[in-house]
Amino acid sequence: MTPLRIAMVNIPFRLPSDERQWITVPPQGYGGIQWIVANKIKGLLELGHEVFLLGAPGSPRTHPRLTVVPAGEPEDIRAWLKSAPVDVVNDYSCGKVDPIELPPGVGLVASHHMTTRPSYPAGCVYASKAQREQCGGGADAPVIPIGVDPSLYRPGDRKDDFLLFMGRISPFKGALEAAAFARAAGRRLLMAGPAWEPEYLDRIMGEYGDHVTLVGEVGGQERMDLLATAAAILVLSQPVPGPWGGTWCEPGATVVSEAAASGTPVVGTSNGCLAEIVPAVGEVVGFGTGFDEREARAVLSRLPSPAQARKAAIRCWGHVEIARRYEAVYRDVLAGARWS
Ligand code: UDP
Repeated sequence: MTPLRIAMVNIPFRLPSDERQWITVPPQGYGGIQWIVANKIKGLLELGHEVFLLGAPGSPRTHPRLTVVPAGEPEDIRAWLKSAPVDVVNDYSCGKVDPIELPPGVGLVASHHMTTRPSYPAGCVYASKAQREQCGGGADAPVIPIGVDPSLYRPGDRKDDFLLFMGRISPFKGALEAAAFARAAGRRLLMAGPAWEPEYLDRIMGEYGDHVTLVGEVGGQERMDLLATAAAILVLSQPVPGPWGGTWCEPGATVVSEAAASGTPVVGTSNGCLAEIVPAVGEVVGFGTGFDEREARAVLSRLPSPAQARKAAIRCWGHVEIARRYEAVYRDVLAGARWS
């Protein structure tokens, strides 16, 4: 089949520590969508397609068939897309692309990462069934989980004893509950990620500080090392008010596939997508902080081995297979498919 020319529109954000720079793909530090876009681009390139990346000026050009378009501001992205030399646009910008502004015949597929109603449901792909339901997407709308590039995440040859939290240190992400689980299991919790709510962090350190080591926001090798050496990652998202209003529903949970690809099994709640993806690579536990020692230790003892976790991650979420599923959706849209 003829390769496609695909515009990938990243969600454009400037780097908080230096407003002159954009958050790149892959990101310099915290950046869930940027990692998803990076893995997707890699998979599409490996399948032989040509990719134009927008919304992340300054990103590395890692392949001859990748063009990094110097358009970061939404109006610059839209202006470029008006005469885009592409077959299809895959929009990760949460609605900054308007289908009627695209050249005739160019297809639009929107990958949704929030839990509000998408601005373009007719071409929207969801990361989980839970997200699709929360967003009011029709049962005919495609669900494609978040992919992971296994070559980026090598299982460490030495596993440590600590448990890992990696994400926004926010109530809906269950950082407090992760600390409670670690204490119940008698393990240390390494907590990595940005903490934008100082009172919440103070509460965690006040109640569980003796079991928590705060690592701060991590990127590069430090991030990879943490993912590879942890005994398990805790993804205990909670059904509490989320950042976009309403009760939090974890849409895709990038860290689950990253950790599993690093040979690190997952302890997760059943919030949103987690009920769909955690059982393949770990154990599902209840909400709240009420873990007892016997239960927490039993959960850890039932986790898959590093080799099993990595194998399952590649089988379920390998980036090339995920890109292939997206390619099928691109071709459906180009053939006129729309959904509710
Ligand atoms: N992350 C990171 N550094 C940190 C904390 C998180 O690079 O200090 C990354 C993490 O590896 C993942 C992303 O940020 O790729 C978080 O994505 P996820 O879907 O798990 O959560 P959300 O997008 O809801 O924050």
